[in-house]
Amino acid sequence: MKWILFFGALIGSGICGREKFFGDQVFRINVRNGDEISKLNQLVNSDNFKLNFWKYPSTFGRPVDVLVPSVNLQPVKSFLKSQGLEYSVTIEDLQALLDNEDEEMQHNKGQERSSNNFNYGAYHSLEAIYHEMESIARDFPNLASRVKIGHSFENRSMYVLKFSTGEGRPRPAIWLNAGIHSREWISQATAMWTSRKIVSDYGKDPAITSILEKMDIFLLPVANPDGYVYTQTQNRFWRKTRSLNPGTHCIGTDPNRNWNVSFAGEGASNNPCSEVYHGAYANSEVEVKSVVDFIQGHGNFKSFIDLHSYSQLLMYPYGYTVKKAPDAEELDEVARRAAKALASLSGTEYQVGPTCTTVYPASGSSIDWAYDNGIKYAFTFELRDTGHYGFLLPANQIIPTAEETWLGLKTIMEHVRDNLY
Ligand SMILES: [Zn+2]
Repeated sequence: MKWILFFGALIGSGICGREKFFGDQVFRINVRNGDEISKLNQLVNSDNFKLNFWKYPSTFGRPVDVLVPSVNLQPVKSFLKSQGLEYSVTIEDLQALLDNEDEEMQHNKGQERSSNNFNYGAYHSLEAIYHEMESIARDFPNLASRVKIGHSFENRSMYVLKFSTGEGRPRPAIWLNAGIHSREWISQATAMWTSRKIVSDYGKDPAITSILEKMDIFLLPVANPDGYVYTQTQNRFWRKTRSLNPGTHCIGTDPNRNWNVSFAGEGASNNPCSEVYHGAYANSEVEVKSVVDFIQGHGNFKSFIDLHSYSQLLMYPYGYTVKKAPDAEELDEVARRAAKALASLSGTEYQVGPTCTTVYPASGSSIDWAYDNGIKYAFTFELRDTGHYGFLLPANQIIPTAEETWLGLKTIMEHVRDNLY
C-alpha cells in the first residue's frame, strides 16, 4: 500500500487507479457487404471477447473500430480470419497513447498553475472547465453568464454558458451541446474553445456579432459530467452516464438514446450492460431531463447542435427512421455549406447526411428529439478524426479541430439568424 501511495505521489497524477490497457490494441475491420455486417453484429452481441466497440458496424464501406483486450488478440484474430473478415491494427500500443495523454495533461496542469491561464490546447478536468466558465463570465459580464441548469446523477452541477446581448423575454436561441458521451474528449475541448471564441470575437467579427444581436447562444460543454470524471479517474473509454440500474451490476445509460423520441426503438438496446442502453424510460437520466426542462421552459430554441467524436460527419434528423425529415432538403443544403466552410481551413473532409442512412439507426437521440419538438435546425457533428487516434485525439489537434469546426458552426448559426421562424 505504501508503495502504491509513494508511486502515486511520485507521478503526482491522481489517476493511478485508472484502468490500464497494457497490450490492448484497436483493430479496424473492413466491411464490404451485408454478410460481413451480420458477422460483425454477431461479434457485437457476443460478450466472449470483451470487446469495446469504438465504431459499430453500420453500412458497407464504413469500417468498424474495436478495442481488443490483450488476452483476446489471438482468439479475435482467429475469429476474423475464419470469417474471412479483413482487418488491420490501427492502434498498436493503446497504453502508450494513454500514458502520453495523461503526461501532457499533468504537465499542462503544472504550467497552468504557475501561469494562471487556461490553455485551450489541452484537455482538462471538470473542475478546471467549470472554473474557466466562471472566468469567461467574469471577464465579459455584459455578454456571458454561467447558469446552473441542474445536476448529474452523482450530484455534480451542470453549467451552461449563456451568451446574450439583449434583455427581456427569451430571444430566439441556439443550444450547443457537448460531451454527452464522456470519452469523446475533443467535444468538450472544442466547446470550451468555442465559448472563448464567442466572447473574444463579439464586436470584431461581423458574423458572430450579428448573430448575437438577434439570438442568444447557450453552450453546455459537459453534458455528462459523471461520465467525464469517470474517464479521468477510472476508465478512459467510458461512454454512458453513471446511474445505477436495478437488478444488475452494469452501470449507466446511453444519454443519447434516452430522449423522448421513438424511445426504445431501433438502434438502442434494452440491455443495461450495452453501450447503447436506452435507460428504464425516456428522460430517466437526470442529465437529459435537465436539458429538456431547460429548453422547454425557455420555449424559443431554433437550433440544437450536438458535438460528438469521432468520424468527421455532419448529420441531421432522422436517426430513428429512414424516412426523410420534412426539412431534409434545407438541412442538407446548410450542412453541405457548413462542411465546405469547415474544410476550407485545412482540408478536413466531412461526410454529410441524415443520421440513419449515413451511419446507423439511433432512436432516442438528442437532435431527433429537438427536431420533433419544433427545433428545426438540429445537427450532430462527429469531430476528428476518422480513426487514426479515435477517442484519443492528441491535444495538439484541439485548436485546429475547434478552429475548423467554428467555421461550420458559424455557417449554421448565420443560416438560423437569416431564417428565424
Ligand atoms: Zn457520441
